[in-house]
Amino acid sequence: MGQHGDDAALYAGGTELLLAMKEGLLRYEHLVNLKTVPGSDRLEYDGFARELHIGPAVTHRALEHSPEVAAQFPLIAAAEANVANVRVRNVGTLCGNLCFAEPHSDPSTFLLLYDARAEVQGTNGFRTIAIDQLVQGPYETCLEDGEMLTSVSVPQLGPEIKAAYQKFGYHQRPTLGLGVAVRLENGSIAEARIAVGSVGPKPVRVPEAEDFLVGKNVNDLLGHASQAGASVLDEAGQMAAQAAQPIDDLHGATDYKEHLVRVFLERVLAKAVGAEPASQRSAA
Ligand SMILES: Cc1cc2nc3c(=O)[nH]c(=O)nc-3n(C[C@H](O)[C@H](O)[C@H](O)COP(=O)(O)OP(=O)(O)OC[C@H]3O[C@@H](n4cnc5c(N)ncnc54)[C@H](O)[C@@H]3O)c2cc1C
Repeated sequence: MGQHGDDAALYAGGTELLLAMKEGLLRYEHLVNLKTVPGSDRLEYDGFARELHIGPAVTHRALEHSPEVAAQFPLIAAAEANVANVRVRNVGTLCGNLCFAEPHSDPSTFLLLYDARAEVQGTNGFRTIAIDQLVQGPYETCLEDGEMLTSVSVPQLGPEIKAAYQKFGYHQRPTLGLGVAVRLENGSIAEARIAVGSVGPKPVRVPEAEDFLVGKNVNDLLGHASQAGASVLDEAGQMAAQAAQPIDDLHGATDYKEHLVRVFLERVLAKAVGAEPASQRSAA
């Protein structure tokens, strides 16, 4: 990559790159096939550090089918099984997905729940980037020219943390992806993480809604025993929708997407804690 500069691109699964080249949107003289780099398909769970390491040639399918990922990171295994279709999952990589930074993507959203790290190598050496810094906007990352994402490291959530991720959409790619992770103490939320993606320019965590939910009793929120529970969730949903900065596009209008975020915050929280959301019960 150092030798060819702008004339070269890294090529992993090619599911984005080759499409863009065929459309004439990107033009390169050289493609550097990173799958030929020994160890690039490393998918390893470090039980001591309790971290998953995902190499640059690890496909969505490998993550979907890894028994270790299923056992230690069930949310990731389930989410990966719903990325694209089986043909894309067979060759497309998680790292390629992150580096292309197409806004309608799943991994850049669910990895925010884990505070994952991107390990990067360039001609000037190695650096580590917090996952929320990697994607900067539509088709834009903080990677410098010639830098390669060599691994994504994903710390495991504590055993006491309950987490879920759901996507929604009618097109091939998600209109919305939303993840929630919570730690409960005596039925109340002691810690919360909320990640929202696909509706806006880049996926985001929503610290204001996370803080707002701390101390709230989860049964009050989801059982809607009181109107107060419903309005707390609605307020948190509004915070999440605002933080995600939804845009009008082929997937829908801004207000539609804001509504989706509010609805899915409740659904995904309910899925995480194993409860049925009140709004679905009344609909049934
Ligand atoms: C029909 C279809 C449906 C899809 N549906 C979904 C979906 O539901 N959810 C979802 O999340 N995604 C979806 N995708 C996107 C899919 O997940 C990505 O296309 C795939 O993961 C990209 O990986 P790749 O290995 O093919 O990347 P490539 O096409 O090989 O590369 C993509 C870009 O990243 C660069 N790159 C690749 N690897 C690295 C690296 N290690 N370091 C630096 N730069 C690198 C390349 O130079 C290129 O610019 C869909 C794609 C298609 C075609």
